[in-house]
Formats: sequence, C-alpha cells, structure tokens
Amino acid sequence: MAGVTFRNVVKRFGNTSVIKGITIEIADKEFLVFVGPSGCGKTTCLRMLAGLEEVTEGEILIGDRIVNNVAPKDRDIAMVFQSYALYPHMTVYENMAFGLRLRKTPKNVIDERVREAAKSLGIEHLLDRRPRQLSGGQRQRVAVGRAVVRNPSVFLMDEPLSNLDAKLRVEARAFISKLHQRLGTTFVYVTHDQTEAMTMGTRICVLNAGEVQQLDSPYVLYHNPRNIFVAGFIGSPAMNFFDATLRESDGNLIVDTGVFNLVIPQVKAVPYRAHIGKKVVLGVRPEDMHDVDYQPPGITPSPIESSVEVIEQMGNEIILYLEEGGKQFVARVDPRTTARIGNRLGMVINIDNVHIFDTETTLSLGYEHKREQIAAEAKARAKVH
Ligand code: ATP
Repeated sequence: MAGVTFRNVVKRFGNTSVIKGITIEIADKEFLVFVGPSGCGKTTCLRMLAGLEEVTEGEILIGDRIVNNVAPKDRDIAMVFQSYALYPHMTVYENMAFGLRLRKTPKNVIDERVREAAKSLGIEHLLDRRPRQLSGGQRQRVAVGRAVVRNPSVFLMDEPLSNLDAKLRVEARAFISKLHQRLGTTFVYVTHDQTEAMTMGTRICVLNAGEVQQLDSPYVLYHNPRNIFVAGFIGSPAMNFFDATLRESDGNLIVDTGVFNLVIPQVKAVPYRAHIGKKVVLGVRPEDMHDVDYQPPGITPSPIESSVEVIEQMGNEIILYLEEGGKQFVARVDPRTTARIGNRLGMVINIDNVHIFDTETTLSLGYEHKREQIAAEAKARAKVH
C-alpha cells in the first residue's frame, strides 16, 4: 500500500505543454479522481504514473520511491483501461491469471487469487467464457478482476465505466466504491464525468488545460469552488452565472446584475466590501432558486421574477428554464410549483449560498473567508457518512 506524489510535474509533447507543473499528494488508501474536460491532461497524468509516458520535468513518487525511471511492471500498480483490453482468445480465468503468470507466480497461488477475486466480483460462473460471450458490465468486472488479483499498491482506472449504459454505470460506480472500501488500497481514477467524480472520490482533482484548478473533497468543491471553472464544472444542472457590479446603497452591499439586484446582508458582505465598484460574476446554483411559494425554511431569500420557458418534470423535483431581461437561467424547484410555460413566476434566490467571482481573475471572492467553515462542515459530514 502506498500514497502517490506528483512534484512539479511537467509533460510536453514536442513544444506543447500538456501538464504545466502540477504538485499533488495522494494519501495512502485514498480514492482520488482526476476530472476535467476532454484534452485537459487527465489520461496523461495517469499514464505518467503508470510509466506508460515519460515525465518531462519533475518527479512522481509511489510511496517514498521516485518512479520516473522505474519500468511499469516494477511500479506495483495495476491499471484498468476504458477499453478493458481483454485478450479475446483467452478465457476469463486466463485473462485474470495472465499478469500473475508473467510474474511467475506459483500455479496454486494464481488459482486461489483468481477464484477469490472472481467470487468477490460475482463472476465466478463466467471463468470459462471468452470476452465476446460477456455483457459490457461483465467485461468491466473481468478487467477490474485482472487488476485485483495482482494485489497492487495502487489501482489506476481510466474511464472504466464509459462503455456501460446509464443504469449499469450507476451499479458499477457503487461496486467500485465498495471494492475500494474492502481492499483499502489507493485508487487513482480518471473521468470527464463530474457525477462519477462526486459520487466516488474521497478527493477530486479538477484539471483544466494541464493545470490543477482545485483539489478538495466533493463537499468542499461543491460548496466553496475556488474559481468560475470549478463552479461551472461541478454540479448538474450547472451553476448559473450573471455578469454584475458590486455597489453600495444605504450601507448595504448590492449585487446588480442589470436584471435583478441582490441585497447582501451586512454580516455576509465582509469578503466583498473591498470590491465595491468592480465588475464581478454572480454564481447561483439551480437549487438555490426557489418558487416563492415553496421556499425552504431558514434561507435568506431575495426576490426575483422571471418568465418560464421550459419545464422538465423529474418526479421528485422540477427543472425550470427561465428568462429575464434577455438572460437565461435554470432553477431546480419543488415539484408543487405552479409554474406554467409562458407565465411569470415569483421566485427567491437564497443569498446564503451565492458565489461572487472576480471577473478578471475568475477567483471566488468569498473562497478564503468561507474556507474554514466549509472545511469544518465537510469534516462533520465525513463522520456521519
Ligand atoms: P479525454 O477525456 O478526451 O481522454 P484527457 O484529459 O485525458 O482527455 P489527455 O489524453 O491527457 O487528455 O491529453 C491531453 C492533451 O495532450 C491533449 O491535447 C492531447 O491531444 C495531447 N496528447 C496526448 N497524447 C499525445 C501524444 N502522444 N502526442 C501529442 N499530443 C498528445
């Protein structure tokens, strides 16, 4: 078992910098997810860790050992690829045993490990089949099984669920999370899917254009995003953004979007006061916009009005696509809402949860201020779950 460290790691392909100097510490037994849009460098990070790609600058450590020049087979890792990469002419048993055979593991040990892994993965009845005789979900389990039998210090997974349909993906997510809990091994997992990242990761590293945007627990990323990129990437439907100006009126701080004004109460205005007069971006999550008649208790409401353009019934909630003053936005509201397409709807925004970003730097102005409180909330929740 081992943690993983990226120390000032740079990767260039020719003259193009793909990873621009990242430093990350992944603790032993952690489930760390690299998430980000296509081309941001997630797979390159994983491949460098696996030894399939050279590190241009910096160091990668597994445990205390610098592995830059260690061959992949000597890194004590096992990787599950998006394609599964199963050998079609071999049975499930042979596929799972292959890596151990290469390492000259005694036959009886191989047999014991393969059967034990197959049992725990629920595929022991498939051991004599070939990959083409399996469903997508079964193949995925075989690919995981092949990694499990190796008993590595670190599991690397590159989009292992992307070939599965939506229902199987949800099942496989839970299955991999359970596997992580049971094995107690370090997992490093790559996905472009923020839901996968949020549901599986103990911590998530949000990458964009080869740079770490934020590395935090799912709770912190969601409630205290460091910049506009993270705020927009994490959460579905995505956060609404409004260009705005901060101004002061009668001692109150006003976020003026040109479409509506939010009055920020004195106690909450502290991190923003220094920015009065500046252009900012207001961020509001869809779940922080409520039908005025069905607002939850305990929030700090600020009224707005808008026209209802589209209504999506989700059963337990309703997604509204709204428009006001030429600006479109999305709200996730109580299913009892009386919203009708084409009608005006009275709404409130919960000021307690809004985010305000500097337009120029894209950084959250409240990030440092909220940091301790959100971290404490995350810790309290971690104890409960
Ligand atoms: P995706 O989600 O689409 O797989 P990713 O975040 O995993 O994307 P990478 O595969 O790590 O992205 O690629 C990062 C960047 O590096 C991309 O712009 C890609 O085109 C480039 N790249 C990757 N491999 C090579 C290579 N062998 N030669 C040149 N450029 C490469």
